[in-house]
Amino acid sequence: MFATLSDRLTTTFKNLRTKGRLSEADIDATVREIRRALLDADVAVSVVREFTGTVRERALSSEVSGALNPAQQVVKIVNEELVAILGGESRGLNLAKNPPSVIMLAGLQGAGKTTLAGKLALHLREQGHTPLLVAADLQRPNAVTQLKVVGERAGVPVYAPSPGNQGAEGESGVSAGDPVAVARAGVETARSRQHDIVIIDTAGRLGVDAELMQQAADIRDATSPDEILFVIDAMIGQDAVATAQAFAEGVNFTGVVLTKLDGDARGGAALSVARVTGRPILFASTGEKLTDFEAFHPDRMASRILDMGDVLTLIEQAEKAFDADQTQAMADKMASGKDFTLADFLVQMQQMRNMGSMKKMLGMLPGMGQMREALDNFDEREVDRVEAIIRSMTPAERETPKIINGSRRARIAKGSGVTTTEVNQLLDRFVGAQKMMRQMSRGGGMAMPGMGNL
Ligand code: GDP
Repeated sequence: MFATLSDRLTTTFKNLRTKGRLSEADIDATVREIRRALLDADVAVSVVREFTGTVRERALSSEVSGALNPAQQVVKIVNEELVAILGGESRGLNLAKNPPSVIMLAGLQGAGKTTLAGKLALHLREQGHTPLLVAADLQRPNAVTQLKVVGERAGVPVYAPSPGNQGAEGESGVSAGDPVAVARAGVETARSRQHDIVIIDTAGRLGVDAELMQQAADIRDATSPDEILFVIDAMIGQDAVATAQAFAEGVNFTGVVLTKLDGDARGGAALSVARVTGRPILFASTGEKLTDFEAFHPDRMASRILDMGDVLTLIEQAEKAFDADQTQAMADKMASGKDFTLADFLVQMQQMRNMGSMKKMLGMLPGMGQMREALDNFDEREVDRVEAIIRSMTPAERETPKIINGSRRARIAKGSGVTTTEVNQLLDRFVGAQKMMRQMSRGGGMAMPGMGNL
């Protein structure tokens, strides 16, 4: 799902990771990469333009978030904007106060409407509803049979006109050739048999045409649906936008269902549909089996596209855990050329602890094999020891570690219940960290220790 787009975007971010501070040129280069990746993935040109414009503007004026390095900040912005073009909030089906609720499916032939009807029926049945499927696709010779098959699999009854018969499932007065009458009779049947939801499968054509649209509009007018779901094959490329616009005008659908998201195709056109039509994506269909179906959540889809595992959750936690004022003070201090001291080190250790278990946190990071190994050896008690050692130092020692001579080391070791060797080790490590912080302050920006290569 969106594999190519995902790869391209992650590569772009990887290239940013080595940068301390992003210049306007860096941001422009990144935005150009994102633009190319989206266009190559068939995202509509107008959507790409708006998207990259916003990302660029936000990246340039990016508020200093001490918890995030520049690459993380760009990922965060791209993620938020992806969520926005995918429709922002997720929403479920709008159901009627007085059942039966009517859900009508519309879309081109082969989009996956009939398959979706079965999936939706099963999903609703599992939620305790009593849906009825209505076969109003009388165009395709097999459509009625196909709906009966999926209905049976889903354990949901199907209302259909009997072939070569004037009636529909015994109902009189319904012509087998009139989809509007079948749809209307289907809703009536649901009402009399106390089904609380009716799902109407309608006919599609290979392309958008006036007759098809008129038929869909007639079915709509005859059944007053609570939801009109436009079903669209995520693999149809740039045609998606024109098709979606035609259906938006023709039947004024209320929501979108993306199908075939399991395909390896570029799929980006599907990303344009919510933005171009202003209608939310409600569900995604991800295979031929009835269970290959899920509610669509813009935020989850965006993080899947960014292939960031739970990095975004991690970023949120980091932002929460890191005291913005403290971090800003530290950033200012570094920028002014002052040295990173043991007191600062202590503050950072405490902030790290705020983020919860380091192991759990780093477990969320994808593709961090090496880091993870280091983590498996990470001992949280080590943090306690470090803290105890620093706390046994005088303020002057914390400010100027150089003054910590042999007798001071022995006193600190005794005070914190560790060996002098452990004090020495900490001081060595601190000198390393100090060096790293100096480099970072030259490169600009603060980063969380240990997250440098995110
Ligand atoms: P309709 O003409 O809109 O009713 O489309 P169908 O429901 O008949 O689906 C057309 C074809 O697409 C069928 O072969 C389905 O099995 C297949 N299909 C439907 N949904 C999906 C999906 O999410 N993933 C995949 N891989 N195939 C699907």
